[in-house]
Amino acid sequence: MNEWDADVARLREQVADLHDELVRYNLVAWTAGNVSARVPGRDLMVIKPSGVSYDDLTPDLMVVCDLDGVVVSGDLAPSSDTAAHAYVYRAMPDVGGVVHTHSGYATAWAAVGEAIPCHLTAQADEFGGEIPVGPFALIGGDDIGKGVVATLAGHRSPAVLMRNHGVFTIGADARAAVKAAVMCEDVARTMYLARTLGRPVPIADADVDALHDRYQNVYGQPGSTATTAV
Ligand SMILES: [Zn+2]
Repeated sequence: MNEWDADVARLREQVADLHDELVRYNLVAWTAGNVSARVPGRDLMVIKPSGVSYDDLTPDLMVVCDLDGVVVSGDLAPSSDTAAHAYVYRAMPDVGGVVHTHSGYATAWAAVGEAIPCHLTAQADEFGGEIPVGPFALIGGDDIGKGVVATLAGHRSPAVLMRNHGVFTIGADARAAVKAAVMCEDVARTMYLARTLGRPVPIADADVDALHDRYQNVYGQPGSTATTAV
């Protein structure tokens, strides 16, 4: 097994396992949702196959595609969101993982077309401000990927709410992107609850900056990968 094969084998296993996290955190229904990982140093990614039950997702069923979304290795068709993942990897060289879900609370914000304002310290930590809304885009071509990249370019957030659709997150690796998807749903839920209680109290911009900087650079164990920053 050469080095490239070893990387692909490791990422097939990691990407398959990370789909269990989407189920564990209640981010997906039926076969919706997908995780991908960039193969380091190669113009390739590992992504979930289309339409396979989460219970049946094993490493050998993961699909390897190039960054135009063309299948390089795998017996099944890749996720219907492959073009969007591929566009993000082409446009954002530091991104090593991409996740897409229709998680309920975050997608409710996407349905009303409203960014999630930053009124929680946990949101300042993880997202560095609002979680923005991206444009409406039809699935299949590059429009979703373009919308994701253009929206994230103007924000520190690793998550974007694509209008009327759902969540896309990025990370330095696939696990970081999954963490961002979990945290995005958590923040979306809490802010929804806050809105039902009354008017959420803002956090000063300087405090958002301080929280984000501390979390991204200091928080966690030395040498650990606590952040989702890319
Ligand atoms: Zn979708």
